[in-house]
Amino acid sequence: MQDKTEEEVKGVQVKSVARVFGLRRSLSEPARNFHSSTSPYPFCMPSRKRTTFTPRKSKKAKRKHVGGDPTAPTDEEWLKMTEFGSFIVRDEEQVEHTFKKGDTATVLPHGAKVGEALDLYDYWIAKIRGVRVRGTDDVWVRVQWYWSGEEVHGVVNAFDANKCGRYERIFSDHFDYVSTTAFDEVIPMRRLIEGEIEQPFIPRNTFYTRYTFEYLARNVQPKPGIDSCMCNTPYAPDDPSPASVMHFCPRLSCRRFFHASCAPRDRRVGAASRANRLLMASTDSDEAVALSGQGEPPKKKPKLGSSGGRGRGRGRGRGRGADMQRDLDGNGSNDDSHDSQELRLKALPEDLVLVAQQPIVRGAAFVAGGVSGNISAVVRARRLVSAALAGVEVPAKWKDLLGCTIENAVVELNELGDSSDEEGEGERPTVNVRKLLCPHCGGAI
Ligand SMILES: [Zn+2]
Ligand SMILES: [Zn+2]
Repeated sequence: MQDKTEEEVKGVQVKSVARVFGLRRSLSEPARNFHSSTSPYPFCMPSRKRTTFTPRKSKKAKRKHVGGDPTAPTDEEWLKMTEFGSFIVRDEEQVEHTFKKGDTATVLPHGAKVGEALDLYDYWIAKIRGVRVRGTDDVWVRVQWYWSGEEVHGVVNAFDANKCGRYERIFSDHFDYVSTTAFDEVIPMRRLIEGEIEQPFIPRNTFYTRYTFEYLARNVQPKPGIDSCMCNTPYAPDDPSPASVMHFCPRLSCRRFFHASCAPRDRRVGAASRANRLLMASTDSDEAVALSGQGEPPKKKPKLGSSGGRGRGRGRGRGRGADMQRDLDGNGSNDDSHDSQELRLKALPEDLVLVAQQPIVRGAAFVAGGVSGNISAVVRARRLVSAALAGVEVPAKWKDLLGCTIENAVVELNELGDSSDEEGEGERPTVNVRKLLCPHCGGAI
């Protein structure tokens, strides 16, 4: 399949740019009609219509779409077609976009109208499984579709689309043939894995997936909510309410997220005590990392100003870190080893300790945390601090090890959640993150 030169592929593709054919349903068709389709795959139109849409393209690539009268290949035809490893689409600015087998790409939704503004999350998403040409210039792509939550709900009624994000897609076993001209651009598809402490950071406004969907079996895996909070309600990445924020207990025997509304409150007083208990929650054992040799710093009176530090808008990084450091200082222990541990903690980079002392949180109200929250950054920071307390030097480039910025890792909840796509607009009201305990082990989360 790779023996064709790029020139040949280009030649083929440029000629076929004139064809546009949408194979899937119009966005305006109600999702509920899917299951009444006679086709085993509801997105396939029973008879192939002539399509003449010339949808507005993304700002980047304005491609020329001219209505044609294409007919998707049948499975039998497909087998006889010549195989390619990739195809190239040239846009109006003559910029060439390469799509390769194995890539995930945005595809123009069928029925998109001329001049209609299309948000990124309105595009269809497909994984490119094969590229073949029929005759000399009729290029088709075999795709495996990613479905939206709503689309899956149209088939599996119990599947709650409200618990899916706008940019979330469910990887289906639904294949189709799509004209190359309907392809927009190659995109990354991130994976959201429940309970994965190395979960890479997922920025908002990027596509991600956590479920797979078998159409004929009506089967969604993993079962939504199964590995999560005891209420069995799955994480709703776009739910803006602070109560729907989820807190993670990283201890070996827990490793679960719990809803802020489901976990008990942490009634123990003292910001220093809580910060240290968070810091000590190790992912590598059920034991606490001893700061003082006794697992828990002595109780102290809360210092003025320390509890109000969380959730304030500006200058949070250094100021709050400094508050916590002062709290640690004020512990009043006479224990020598405890003092030396405290001194070692104080000698560490302030922001590193600050990140390590964060609760592990995800949810739309934690805007900076993206879809995945701060889990891996906090886990890594805690490991670095724990190693440092055991005498290992903190690497100079420790910030690069977090996988996101300090801002992405420090929890600040927006009262209104992620209510818009815009970033950087003025101050938004914030609320304090709840001080919670793990329902399983009673540790601070
Ligand atoms: Zn819950
Ligand atoms: Zn726990």
